Amino acid sequence: MPCQWNTARECQFAVHDDELLEHDGRFYCLFHLPLDNDNKLDPNEFSIQFNEALAPGIGLRDFSGVAFPGHATHGMVATYRVDVEAVFQNCTFGRFATST
Ligand SMILES: [Zn+2]
Repeated sequence: MPCQWNTARECQFAVHDDELLEHDGRFYCLFHLPLDNDNKLDPNEFSIQFNEALAPGIGLRDFSGVAFPGHATHGMVATYRVDVEAVFQNCTFGRFATST
């Protein structure tokens, strides 16, 4: 069963079925997993995997529907560096943490 992020199109990421994460009865890859899921990775770990997803290939990258976590631990702010041409249609960005 592939990632079920969108009923109208397939997931663009090469994620094995056994790596999908369940949320409200549907299965998502890490990149499309909604932000309200308690199992969402820490932004630092997510960023590492995101950058690995950026690495292969050339040309326009498709990040449609990606849910970027913004809350971070230890007062760190989640940042994502993208220096390639990319589509960010229907993406979700979490709130940035503030240090106190
Ligand atoms: Zn997906």
